[in-house]
This record gives sequence, structure tokens and C-alpha cells, in this order.
Amino acid sequence: MHSGTAPQAGRLDKIRPVGKWPNFDTPRSNHRPPETIGKRAKTNELILRRDWDFIMRLRLAGITRESVVDGPGIRVVIYAQGCPHGCPGCQNPDTHDPNGGKLFDVGQVVQMIRSVPMAQGVTFSGGEPFSQAEAFAELGHMLKSSSLDIVTYTGYVWEDLVSSSRDTWHDLLSLTTLLVDGPFYEDERDLGLAFRGSRNQRVIDVAKSLEKNAPVVVSDTYDACRRP
Ligand code: SF4
Repeated sequence: MHSGTAPQAGRLDKIRPVGKWPNFDTPRSNHRPPETIGKRAKTNELILRRDWDFIMRLRLAGITRESVVDGPGIRVVIYAQGCPHGCPGCQNPDTHDPNGGKLFDVGQVVQMIRSVPMAQGVTFSGGEPFSQAEAFAELGHMLKSSSLDIVTYTGYVWEDLVSSSRDTWHDLLSLTTLLVDGPFYEDERDLGLAFRGSRNQRVIDVAKSLEKNAPVVVSDTYDACRRP
């Protein structure tokens, strides 16, 4: 899901490389040791799970280092690759293929975000971030020590997310400051909306909504993100 002005085709031109791939053959002390996960049928050779199997990865359509249209303030935008919603009029069908885009180690993405000194927040957009909820939640956890707030766009509605039995969806939701929910509807399209593309979409204060057990729609997004 994405905002009214994003991601237009041109926005993906702003994708920046986020560094080299790590050397996955180099053991890292903080990774779990290899463990046996099976045997090869003919040779009986043990199959070991390697360190790199535990590295969480994100499949991304792109990254914008500084955006002012995807939530309040200057934000780093992480575009998920893959979207199941198929909204008619979607301006970025290139993000739909779940096998497209490029894979990034979550740690690489954290480093890239931390290298943007002007950033006041991070936006998870797409594509559909909840299709990769576990990895986006991992990214959110790794950013928690920073002062960056998180805005998450989704084509699902709030009610879908809170009633889901998927722990990873709840995890990602709980790490989100503002949720922009709902699919893009062409007949509800409105270019005058802040951070949204169509009138059915809502900007939801997640902490207040979880507390009240009902979606709390906000108009002052700056206030919601800067709350102590
Ligand atoms: S949620 Fe809809 S508008 Fe957003 S990327 Fe998916 S298909 Fe496009």
C-alpha cells in the first residue's frame, strides 16, 4: 500500500544501493552454530544449517533516503516487494511480484537508515509490508533504540490486522506508530489528502487504538509521532 503521491514510477528511480552483500561464509559469533537438518539420500552426508540461514532478509522494491510525502517529517522509506491486493489503478504494479525486487539483510537496511542524519522517522511502504511481517518487525525491533518513529502502509484494514491469528502481524502492528490502512480505491482517489491516496484510507494512531480496542484516526500526524 502506498500514499497518494507515492510510489509513482519515478520514485523508484530514487533507489539507492544499501551496501555490499555481507560475506555469508564468514562465521559470526552472534549467530547460532550450524545444526544438522537432514541427510542426503544417496551419500548419507549430513546437511548442516549454516549461519546464513538465520539472517532475516527483506525483499524490497526500493528505498528512498529522504521523503516528505510518506508520513510526517523527513523519512526513510522502505518499499516492500510483493503485494497480494491488486488494487485497480495502483500506480506501481512493479511492486506486486513476490519474487521480484532484491533481497537485503535486515542489518544492512538498519545501517542504511542510520546513515541518514536528517531522518526523523521510517516508513514501511510497498508493496505490502505485512506480507513480510516477520522481517519488517525484526527491522522495527532493531530501530527501537533510535528515536525514529515508524509509519506502516498496508492494503489490509485495521480490523483485518487485529483479528488475525498471525503473531507476526501483531508484532509489526505493535511496533508501528501510525498505520495507513486500506486498499487504494480509484473512485475515492483524492490528491488533496495528506499521506493517503484515497478517502477510504485511514491514518491510525496504533498505540491509542490498541488501548481503546478500536481504530483511532488522527489528523495531527506530527503530534502522534512526537508524543513522548
Ligand atoms: S495495496 Fe494496492 S495500491 Fe498499494 S501496492 Fe498493493 S495493489 Fe498497489
